[in-house]
Amino acid sequence: MQIVACIKQVPDTTQVQIDPVTNTLIREGIPFIMNPYDTHALEEALRIKDRFGCSVTAISMGPPNAEATLKKALALGADRVVLLSDRCFGGADTLATSNVLTEAIRALSREDEVGIIICGKQTIDGDTAQVGPGIATRLHYTQLTLVDRVIDLDLGQRRVRVSRKLEGRHEIVESPLPVLLTVVRELNRPRYPTVPMRLAAADATVEVWNNQVLKLDETTIGLKGSPTWVSKIFSPQRDKGEFIGEASSTSDETAQLLIDKLLSKDLLSI
Ligand SMILES: Cc1cc2nc3c(=O)[nH]c(=O)nc-3n(C[C@H](O)[C@H](O)[C@H](O)COP(=O)(O)OP(=O)(O)OC[C@H]3O[C@@H](n4cnc5c(N)ncnc54)[C@H](O)[C@@H]3O)c2cc1C
Repeated sequence: MQIVACIKQVPDTTQVQIDPVTNTLIREGIPFIMNPYDTHALEEALRIKDRFGCSVTAISMGPPNAEATLKKALALGADRVVLLSDRCFGGADTLATSNVLTEAIRALSREDEVGIIICGKQTIDGDTAQVGPGIATRLHYTQLTLVDRVIDLDLGQRRVRVSRKLEGRHEIVESPLPVLLTVVRELNRPRYPTVPMRLAAADATVEVWNNQVLKLDETTIGLKGSPTWVSKIFSPQRDKGEFIGEASSTSDETAQLLIDKLLSKDLLSI
């Protein structure tokens, strides 16, 4: 059985600039990293591999420079990495992105069954959290989102039990395989690559699949296959700060005033 980890390369900053004309990210001059949630997705895939010996394939749809991020996945222990890269994949929204990733996973599954797909909860640039569920829906895999713990995995019985981190509570759910998990940061602590693994990965070649490999209808991918577009991106305006209490107030008094203020605005529930 094969595990697929979906990895997106994202800009290494929260201070990205927006092009005011096109409303897209200005990507020039920005260093790129593996989407932080995806480092946890890959780590969990590697832990399952360590326990059960399944193979781990990391896939990414992105420009040619996303190879660097996939090489990091190799250095961490992925067995195989595939970059889905073609000019016709560019400009994709989440629907078109899900279409390409789904078709790649189908192709991988024809070689060796993909029993588990692991994605990050969301990216730090697009932030939609739609791609994982989009893939699960297309493949008819059960989707378990916001996973913060894999409690039990039984490959013989083909079942997995996980904890989901919901607002103010946890939910324990069990599902048969095949399954797609989206994961949160609390799931695990990602490992560091060893120097020999890093050196081996630096020399490795990344498999690149274009649309001649996937053969997707061009009206379902890239800009042509994207029914959504960004009409405006803006940072919300912050209200002016407000001083609470007097300089002579004790810390307890100030804390009480602050709590009263938050309660009066319905920002705190006790
Ligand atoms: C009209 C439009 C045009 C766009 N044009 C571009 C563009 O030209 N270039 C561009 O980079 N972005 C573009 N985007 C943004 C792009 O659609 C999203 O970044 C992408 O679809 C993924 O959505 P997300 O980042 O919100 O991922 P989320 O749904 O938040 O991601 C969840 C998880 O899915 C997986 N995942 C998501 N994306 C990928 C990926 N590409 N490869 C592997 N795994 C992935 C990861 O595991 C990730 O943690 C465009 C968006 C729109 C609406």
